Amino acid sequence: MTDDHCIFCKIITGKIPSRKVHEDEQVFAFHDIAPWAPIHFLIIPKWHLPSMAQLAPEHAGLMGHMMTLAPKLAAQEGCKPYPDGGFRIVVNTGAEGGQEVHHLHMHVMGGPRPWLRG
Ligand code: AMP
Ligand code: ZN
Repeated sequence: MTDDHCIFCKIITGKIPSRKVHEDEQVFAFHDIAPWAPIHFLIIPKWHLPSMAQLAPEHAGLMGHMMTLAPKLAAQEGCKPYPDGGFRIVVNTGAEGGQEVHHLHMHVMGGPRPWLRG
């Protein structure tokens, strides 16, 4: 279920500390350590899944849960409502997709501009 060498698996099990935003049976969400935007957190599955490239039909429920949870957590963390506020979702996949940590994660970014990146 978890990978001993994976930094995000260590965050899920508490071996590496994080600033938790949300946890349920399927996902863990925590603030990004190097935020690009005033609000920047990550939503990850609670079991090791390297990237979106490994997704199969059985993951539809998980991905649907992550997508529908993101707006709720964005509002909870202070993103202003759509359309004046809003948020950005990014899922980097593979080296050319800009992925550095190989445990699937959804970046959720928001807050007043300008942002550091993105
Ligand atoms: P990516 O480039 O899409 O793989 O993004 C990985 C993200 O994980 C980056 O935005 C990092 O700042 C973030 N990150 C790496 N280590 C930690 C950590 N220990 N706690 C929180 N965020 C982290
Ligand atoms: Zn992992």
